[in-house]
Amino acid sequence: MPRIIVLGAGFAGLWAALGAARKRDEVGAPAADVEILVIDRNPYHNIRVRNYEVDISEAAIPLAGLLDPVGIRHRVAEVRAVDPVKQQVSVTTKGGSEIVGYDRLVLALGSELAHPAIPGLAASGFDVDTYAAAVRLDEHLAGLGKQVDAEGVATVVIVGGGFTGIEVATEMPGKLDKAGVSGKRRIILVDPNSVVGATFGENARPVVSEALTALGVETRLHARVTAIDAGTVTLSSGEIIPTRTVVWCGGMRASPVVQTLPVERDRLGCLHVDRFMRLTGATNIFAAGDVASCVVDGEHATVMSCQFARPMGRFAGNNVVADLFGQPMLPLDIDWYVTVLDLGSWGALHTVGWDRQLHASGAAAKATKQIINRERIYPPRTGARADLLAAAAPTVQKPPPTGRR
Ligand SMILES: Cc1cc2nc3c(=O)[nH]c(=O)nc-3n(C[C@H](O)[C@H](O)[C@H](O)COP(=O)(O)OP(=O)(O)OC[C@H]3O[C@@H](n4cnc5c(N)ncnc54)[C@H](O)[C@@H]3O)c2cc1C
Repeated sequence: MPRIIVLGAGFAGLWAALGAARKRDEVGAPAADVEILVIDRNPYHNIRVRNYEVDISEAAIPLAGLLDPVGIRHRVAEVRAVDPVKQQVSVTTKGGSEIVGYDRLVLALGSELAHPAIPGLAASGFDVDTYAAAVRLDEHLAGLGKQVDAEGVATVVIVGGGFTGIEVATEMPGKLDKAGVSGKRRIILVDPNSVVGATFGENARPVVSEALTALGVETRLHARVTAIDAGTVTLSSGEIIPTRTVVWCGGMRASPVVQTLPVERDRLGCLHVDRFMRLTGATNIFAAGDVASCVVDGEHATVMSCQFARPMGRFAGNNVVADLFGQPMLPLDIDWYVTVLDLGSWGALHTVGWDRQLHASGAAAKATKQIINRERIYPPRTGARADLLAAAAPTVQKPPPTGRR
C-alpha cells in the first residue's frame, strides 16, 4: 500500500493531510489502499497565532478529533531527519528510534524562534512560539501574581518589535491582570531598529505607536539584549532592568530538520517549492507552510504566516495524491495579502497590500482580528467527516472582512 507521510500538524500539515484525504476520496481510493500518516511531536493542532493571547484555552485541538473521522493515521514522534534518496524519515518516540518509509512526503514542520547565544536566554527567557511555551509563560506569570511586590516582579521585558513582539507587549496588561500581578507595572519593548513595526507602511506605523503609548508600553529602540538572568536583563546601552520575565520574540527560522536536505533554501532556511508545492531539487517531496516559500502572484514570495500556510497545505495535500495517481495537479495562486495585528485592549491594525498600507485600526480592525483568530483559521470541530473534507478543498479564501474606523 502506498504511504503518504505528512510531517507536522500545524496550519500547513493539518490542511495538507485533510486535503490529501479529500483527494483520495475524489480519486475513489479507499483509505485501506492509500495510507496517509501524520507525524508531529504533539498530539494536538496548535492555533499558533493565538499563543500570545490572554486566554489560550482554545489554542490546542486534539488531532484525534480532526484526523480519525477521515481515516488519517497520526503518530506522536520527534522527526530527526529525512533521507530523500532512500525515501525514509527518521523519528524518535518514547520507545526509541525508528525509520519510516514513504512513497510521497509533505514537509510541513513549520518554523522555530531563532535563539541567539545570549547569556542566560536559554535558562531564563520565555516565549510564545509554541503552545507549551505559552502555557509555561502563563504559569510563570500566575506564580508572580502570588508574590509580594518586589523589584522586577511587575516588569515584563519583550525583546523584538516585530509582529509577535508587538502582540505580546500589547496583550501583556491583560495577561498581568489575569495573573493578578500587582504593584507598579512596567512593560518594556526592546528592538534594535529606530522604530517599532519597521515593516509596516508609513501610514500604519503611527497606529502601533499610538497603541503602545495608550497601553503604557515603554520602548527601548536602537538596543539589543546582551545578557539575561533570573532577576535582570542587560541592554547594549548599558541599562540594567530588574525583571523576572523576559519574553523573547526575536524572529523565526524554518525547521532545523530541513536544513540538512541537499537543496537550495532562502535566507530564513525556507525550501523553494513550485506552484504545485513540489520541492525544487527533489523527487516525491512536497513542502508547505513556514518551511517553504513559493511565488504566489507571479511577483511576491510567500512569507511565514498562517495566511499562506493553510492554502499551501491544502494544495500540497491535493497535489501529493494527484501526483501519486498520475492526475493533473493544481497551481496555487493568491492575489491578495493583508496583515491584521492585535494591539490588545486598544484594538488592532489591519493593513492591505505587500507594502502594508493602513486599511483599518482600533475596534473595527479588532473585530476582524477576532474573526480570524477565533473562527476563520479553525478546522471544523464537528467531528463530521464531510465537514472536514469540505473544508480541505484546494481553494483560496477571500480576504478577511474589513471595517474602517
Ligand atoms: C505568537 C504568534 C503569532 C502569530 N500571528 C500570526 C498572524 O497574526 N498571522 C499569520 O498569518 N501568522 C502568524 N503567526 C505565524 C504563524 O503561526 C505561522 O506562520 C504558521 O504557524 C505556520 O504554519 P506551519 O504549519 O508552517 O507551522 P506550524 O504551525 O508551526 O506547525 C508546525 C508543526 O510541526 C511540528 N513540528 C515541528 N518540528 C517538529 C519535529 N522535529 N518533529 C515533530 N514535529 C515537529 C510542530 O509541533 C507543529 O505542529 C504567528 C506566530 C506566532 C508564534
